[in-house]
Amino acid sequence: MSKPTITAQPSSEVTDNNSSILQNGGKILPVCYRCTKVPKEGLYDGFRIQGMFFCSECQQELFSAEPGSPEYQEFMFLIKGIFY
Ligand SMILES: [Zn+2]
Repeated sequence: MSKPTITAQPSSEVTDNNSSILQNGGKILPVCYRCTKVPKEGLYDGFRIQGMFFCSECQQELFSAEPGSPEYQEFMFLIKGIFY
């Protein structure tokens, strides 16, 4: 009785959308998906969602946006673009 010892390896790992990441002298710098700026603190100055990066400034703007405001709708549009 021999069980095949094939380790199933997902050949197609979720390829991150790295198009929004700049390589700068060995440093990987994220570029904000919304304002296309590079935050000073790099990856720690903002948040990533589904491979997209948002700088802390946009994060604050979007998270504090009133429902119905242009910022809020923009954020919902971006998020929907991710999940749908
Ligand atoms: Zn931004």
